Amino acid sequence: MNSQSITKEILKWYDNNKRNLPWRKHLTNKQKEYYTLVSEIMLQQTQVKTVIPFFDNFIKKIPNLNTLAKTRDKKLMKCWEGLGYYSRARNLKKTAQKIIKDFNGRLPNNIENLKSLPGIGEYTSTAIMAIAFNKQYIPLDGNVERILKRVFYLKSEKEINKDNLHKKKSLFGKSNRPSDYAQAIMEIGALICKPKDPLCHGCPVNKICTAYKKNDFEIKSKNKFNKVKYFEAEIYENNNKYLLIKNNKFNFLKNLLIFPMKEIDQNKFKSSFNKSINIKISNMDMRITINKIKKNKYFNNSFLIGKNDLKNYILPSFTKKIFNSIMRY
Ligand code: SF4
Repeated sequence: MNSQSITKEILKWYDNNKRNLPWRKHLTNKQKEYYTLVSEIMLQQTQVKTVIPFFDNFIKKIPNLNTLAKTRDKKLMKCWEGLGYYSRARNLKKTAQKIIKDFNGRLPNNIENLKSLPGIGEYTSTAIMAIAFNKQYIPLDGNVERILKRVFYLKSEKEINKDNLHKKKSLFGKSNRPSDYAQAIMEIGALICKPKDPLCHGCPVNKICTAYKKNDFEIKSKNKFNKVKYFEAEIYENNNKYLLIKNNKFNFLKNLLIFPMKEIDQNKFKSSFNKSINIKISNMDMRITINKIKKNKYFNNSFLIGKNDLKNYILPSFTKKIFNSIMRY
């Protein structure tokens, strides 16, 4: 297969199989830029199927860049509630303000200017260039990486480093439909070249895939180091009301409501007889021991919240998970 026939087969597959996603609707150029920006920021840490309802709700409440730039933080956070990684929402609003101030209200269509916007790095800028501006870029997301590693059978540390993977993208050549093409390759990774049990029979590049020939689909990845950290959460409860504080202490979940917590030593965690739960957040595996205390306590910026009033507050899913676990015992 030469690169022209690879391109043709991939686009043919995409035209027959692409998912009907809300940011792929027929849109004006201005809408396309806004929808791509919002969806790509949401997709940075979250899977497509989780993002869809949040995206629909976000667009309904905050339909364009001008509205986003002026949206009050409370409303913005309510729209993002449950999606996690809240700094993305704050950056999105700052990005909208900067686009209006510095770029005449239109998303810039070059990589360097895109990267100057809060929350937009290498991957997101190339995704925007390809998807919103129809430029010849193929963003290297986890899906594209997986296809390249399997087609070229890349296993060693040297072979799977980012520089080499970027070089290997030349396999895909160029297309006269760059926006569709970039999305098509990512879509094949998501739907066909899945991490487990890839559906090779329906794959448009199976003729040139070494993993398929060798029947070995194992993917080597650079160890993503998830740090294990230990915490003690203090649950102050009085008359069915629980004390939450606005987090100014930890770098994660900044300014959001959490139970009072402190980081503790692993030995103290082990010797604790309290219940505990595990929560993954950013690059951290948190082990949290739950210490229930039946008395009143007040901190700066603290709130006593009844179980039934929770819906009136913007709570990160982190806090909801702890809350659900204490309700169980
Ligand atoms: S043939 Fe199979 S392993 Fe190779 S790229 Fe396609 S889906 Fe992935």
